Amino acid sequence: MDPVIYFDNNATTRLAPEALEAMQPYLTGLYGNPSSIHGFGSQVARKIQAAREQVAILLGAADPVEIVFTSCGTEGDNAAIRGILDSQPDKRHIVTTQVEHPAVLSLCQHLEKKGYRVTWLRVDGNGMLDLDELKDSLTDDTALVSIMYANNETGVIFPIEAIGEIVKARGIPFHVDAVQVAGKMPLNLKQTPVDLLTISAHKFHGPKGVGALYVRRGITFRPFLVGGHQERGRRGGTENVAGIVGMGKAAELALKDKPEEERRVRALRDRLEKSLLESCPDSRVNGDNEMRLSNTLNMSFKFLEGEAILVLLDQYGICASTGSACTAGSAEPSHVLRAMGVPPDWIQGAVRFSLSCYTTEEEVLSVNQKVPSIVQRLSGLSALGKLAKKQELKRGDHGDQVGARR
Ligand code: PLP
Repeated sequence: MDPVIYFDNNATTRLAPEALEAMQPYLTGLYGNPSSIHGFGSQVARKIQAAREQVAILLGAADPVEIVFTSCGTEGDNAAIRGILDSQPDKRHIVTTQVEHPAVLSLCQHLEKKGYRVTWLRVDGNGMLDLDELKDSLTDDTALVSIMYANNETGVIFPIEAIGEIVKARGIPFHVDAVQVAGKMPLNLKQTPVDLLTISAHKFHGPKGVGALYVRRGITFRPFLVGGHQERGRRGGTENVAGIVGMGKAAELALKDKPEEERRVRALRDRLEKSLLESCPDSRVNGDNEMRLSNTLNMSFKFLEGEAILVLLDQYGICASTGSACTAGSAEPSHVLRAMGVPPDWIQGAVRFSLSCYTTEEEVLSVNQKVPSIVQRLSGLSALGKLAKKQELKRGDHGDQVGARR
């Protein structure tokens, strides 16, 4: 039995036992270097090639040669953006969105400081983009468009095919951060107008410390990690062999029973959503209802602190999140919810529940039972807090109190 009730699968997922089994020989006996000439090394190189084929199938890529193994999603995003900018030094404009993961957001903020002009596309209240705004933002100076496929905090899915058509009609390279999509939704890059696409193994039951960047054949791309000739000179450094083998296995598993599995997870997520909306009066869902990953539920509880809810859930062994793993623990409200214009009374009270193929009905039931009582308890405390504040103000003790509240 699991020691935890795990609803934080957009942060990371459990390693599939089959992936662990596939990795084990490459952590023990089969330790040869895949770049070696001898047979002991070249059998490892063949296994990497097999994993490349498995990942290419998951992405619906035309050719396994389009897959470059990396160390994580953050590296893939950095390699794609920097690699494309480096290959067009005369172009100085980047288009991205206000709701990207920090792997893209922080890099683009950094590039802005270095003199690049960045267009930050806005989203509406449902978290959706305005494609006319995208169209209007493209210029002859645009070096790259980088847009995520699905948002890690809300699960909102962007219409990548339509976006790609707009971008490719202008002949501009298009990078997609698909870290939250690989293994959850079917991908068919043969027929999707995307030039580069980032994925990360630990988001679909593969190991941590390994990812992949899809680079369409014919795209000029300068390597981010310059070193040896690994990955055909596109990413230097001795390969994380066991990680790559595990990622290949996880990619293969992700395609197994996919439609049924997705339906099952969606039904569990919907049951959770319906029940929490009914049992917690001041609650709302953040993110589009239709265009949303089937495993993701981002809910806000009015006037409450999401972090307080998480601490109390943790006492029951329930793991959830306030949003991005990389911003959890920071006092700043989510940049994604802010961009969506979520009102101040609701924004701090956001909690993300993200499910996986391992989530069970019993676990959903357990969350459905615990959350309402936690919310009720915190709402009581929050009401008492407001009453105390009112009494202090009545006593004329306002100056410090108002300041402290900020
Ligand atoms: N992009 C998105 C959308 C993500 O959700 C994440 C991780 O949460 C990343 C990039 C970074 O991936 P990694 O943790 O593998 O560096």
